[in-house]
Amino acid sequence: MKKIILVFVAAISLSCNSNAQQDKSNKKEFEVTKSESEWKAELSKAEFQILRKKGTERAFSSELNRISQPGTFVCAACGNALYKTKHKFESGTGWPSFDRPISEENVAYQPDRTGGFPATEVICSKCGGHLGHVFNDGPKNTTGKRHCINGVAMDFIPDNE
Ligand SMILES: [Zn+2]
Repeated sequence: MKKIILVFVAAISLSCNSNAQQDKSNKKEFEVTKSESEWKAELSKAEFQILRKKGTERAFSSELNRISQPGTFVCAACGNALYKTKHKFESGTGWPSFDRPISEENVAYQPDRTGGFPATEVICSKCGGHLGHVFNDGPKNTTGKRHCINGVAMDFIPDNE
């Protein structure tokens, strides 16, 4: 019971953070659902570690950091379209950074307290895979959000392909 109340409180504090996707974050069932062994067989070691084990790649390690051509960043696990190059910005953090997802429907948010301070985790709304985190120190002239996303968790599809 205590756990349920805690989740509820977390849900309220998150929705106060102007996150409209709270409903999805508590949803345990995703459109794409696979067992841990199935994911392990399908994903590369690095993809599995990040998408399924909530790992974080080394800063500046992803080739997706350098992408500036128009295109779509999709979930490496299920192909769900997540971000567009036009919403990518140079954050200097070493991780691909976006000021918004393609659609708020395509990602979900959930509170993450594993780092010792409250943070908001971003997951794929289709398979539940861990993508990264969202912070409120993004570009002030647009959304003010910084989606700090692991490149390993995504594949890039150029617009002309
Ligand atoms: Zn996915």
